[in-house]
Amino acid sequence: MIYQGNERHPVREAVLHCAAIKDGQFAHFTPFQAFVTVNQWHLERGFNGFGYHGLFMPDGSWFPGRPFEMIGAHVKGHNTGTLGFLLIESREIDRMGAFEDFFTEAQRCALTAKLAELPGLQTVSGHNDHAPKLCPGFKVRSEDWL
Ligand SMILES: [Zn+2]
Repeated sequence: MIYQGNERHPVREAVLHCAAIKDGQFAHFTPFQAFVTVNQWHLERGFNGFGYHGLFMPDGSWFPGRPFEMIGAHVKGHNTGTLGFLLIESREIDRMGAFEDFFTEAQRCALTAKLAELPGLQTVSGHNDHAPKLCPGFKVRSEDWL
């Protein structure tokens, strides 16, 4: 089990996100450039920097964000006891679709492997399960990921 914050809240859920970017906006970005860009957005929104616990590029590469033991800033009202993972979409998400409409098989593999490393995880949800948003652009079902 992973525990977060001084009060050691158990982490039982991962929440998936997309970047809400335009077509080509992050094209040719390295993972570090994606991290720096999102970090800047989150600073501008008054967060304590990059609010997710890591990101997955379209080629499946991973870049870490907040330590898993640090409470994130990614899903209002549900940041405590959850991990936030950012999937960088390959095309603009303007409607609900399927995972493969916006993301790659490499991302599916990398995310599945990352989730399997997390002891005690019981649920994988989408931002849209917690707020009236498109993010991450598809219906997230725990059984597809755990
Ligand atoms: Zn989101």
